[in-house]
Amino acid sequence: MTDPHQDLRDAIRALCATFPPEYHRRIDEERGYPEEFVAALTKAGWLAALIPEEYGGSGLGLSEASVIMEEINRAGGNSGACHGQMYNMGTLLRHGSAAQKAEYLPKIAAGELRLQSMGVTEPTTGTDTTKIKTTAERHGDRYVINGQKVWISRIQHSDLMILLARTTPLAEVTKKSLGMSIFLVDLHAAIGNGLTVKPIRNMVNHETNELFFDNLEIPAENLIGEEGMGFRYILDGLNAERALIAAECIGDGLWFIDKVTAYAKEREVFGRPIGQNQGVQFPIAEAHIEVQAAGLMRDRACALFDANLPCGTEANMAKYLAAKASWEAANACLQFHGGFGFATEYDVERKFRETRLYQVAPISTNLILSHVAEHVLGLPRSF
Ligand SMILES: Cc1cc2nc3c(=O)[nH]c(=O)nc-3n(C[C@H](O)[C@H](O)[C@H](O)COP(=O)(O)OP(=O)(O)OC[C@H]3O[C@@H](n4cnc5c(N)ncnc54)[C@H](O)[C@@H]3O)c2cc1C
Repeated sequence: MTDPHQDLRDAIRALCATFPPEYHRRIDEERGYPEEFVAALTKAGWLAALIPEEYGGSGLGLSEASVIMEEINRAGGNSGACHGQMYNMGTLLRHGSAAQKAEYLPKIAAGELRLQSMGVTEPTTGTDTTKIKTTAERHGDRYVINGQKVWISRIQHSDLMILLARTTPLAEVTKKSLGMSIFLVDLHAAIGNGLTVKPIRNMVNHETNELFFDNLEIPAENLIGEEGMGFRYILDGLNAERALIAAECIGDGLWFIDKVTAYAKEREVFGRPIGQNQGVQFPIAEAHIEVQAAGLMRDRACALFDANLPCGTEANMAKYLAAKASWEAANACLQFHGGFGFATEYDVERKFRETRLYQVAPISTNLILSHVAEHVLGLPRSF
């Protein structure tokens, strides 16, 4: 069977080939942002893949979007610098008003505005999202935001953020998932006027931040959808996010397998290539099998999403399998490079750190297992 996305893959590969490993290595060492790379992807229209043509995007499906993310990571890059641009706008597209869509989507598609950030996680509540403490209180034609967020990515390279805040106290709602709302925050207007951003230095070159809201005022018209329904809107967007992160892990996994296979054929110890030893072959073969299987689950999740069919379980399972497979591939790659795996110039240690993140964020593997156990298999609820 031929790959229906071969032309797309070739186009992304050609663009990525103009950014060699040295480029991504330098950005990582400098803890910089791959501005030129993201600009090239934007200019070529790839980051607007999911925006409908009527708003200036390419109107492609999630299957195509996932191929774009996969190929970036397979080429040695890190989609984490720009993947938010792909899926955050989906929330606006599905739940925004006609006026909001007309105002923002064409500018996002043209690369004039970046909507790269989504503020959900809080320091004291973590995965237990319905307990968030950040509040948005309506005062006339404004909402006033108070509270704190943590691990909010790409704020310094975004113009807009989607923010989840409580508009009705938890004690006053009939269901804990009600009473939260989402807002579009203009970051340039907000920073220094009620929003303080504190970068978090972390294991990966991933720009992420603590956010402090102190009476930040935003126009009431920046509410997306209906007040109180924000948690459901955020959940609606997560399936696309999960499938795209799965694709990135698949790209990472393929990168690790290519890299370690080439090295194991060439590196000679004890008078023969290390890849002649089954103790070396088997972990690589196992990782290859797992990456391929994860790819099939990703394909299924994307096909369901593109057919407007429920895909939450498949998207979660794809993310689980892909994150696990890329981690297995990363371990094999690092292990069989011996000491050289730790040398920056081989890029293995960088990709190793990058792919490890996806066991924890944007959803930890435990929470996916809990979803499958309780929502698919019907085991008793644990929370
Ligand atoms: C680099 C990075 C970037 C991020 N970017 C963003 C972003 O842009 N926007 C955003 O909103 N968030 C972001 N996050 C936050 C991320 O989504 C959370 O870190 C993740 O969801 C886990 O939440 P937590 O860190 O609060 O862990 P906790 O909820 O404190 O959980 C800690 C550990 O306990 C386990 N655990 C918790 N409860 C259970 C349970 N009931 N059963 C079994 N195990 C459990 C979890 O698996 C986890 O490993 C980012 C995080 C990182 C590290």
